[in-house]
Amino acid sequence: MDSCLFCKIAKKEVPADIVYEDDKVLAFKDINPKAPFHVLIVPKKHIPSVNHLEEVDKKLVGELFLVAQKIAKQKELKGYKLIINVGRAGGQIIDHLHLHLLGKGPTELP
Ligand code: 5GP
Ligand code: ZN
Repeated sequence: MDSCLFCKIAKKEVPADIVYEDDKVLAFKDINPKAPFHVLIVPKKHIPSVNHLEEVDKKLVGELFLVAQKIAKQKELKGYKLIINVGRAGGQIIDHLHLHLLGKGPTELP
């Protein structure tokens, strides 16, 4: 979608601190972190929310979780939380599917 912020970040039209990228998935630091380590993992395909997932997206959703695992390992996070907000009442502000990865890690601590 032309007006979608995360689509613009995926197309490099809006800058972001990118921590992981492949052909289908992008991960970048949250602009307003709620943990010492807070990244957003997004599919490059525009999917508004979990409520909009279709059968064809099954593999892509799995890849988001595998990217979370990969980043956590690379950043040596001891533990982490994965959060997906769905809909305004669920706390979703940006209408492009994203997985919040929140953690504390030796590489991010003061
Ligand atoms: P939501 O509430 O939709 O689950 O999460 C949206 C997240 O996107 C928020 O944590 C917010 O801080 C983050 N965010 C909003 N605008 C930007 C931006 O322009 N760049 C980055 N990197 N993160 C953003
Ligand atoms: Zn989008």
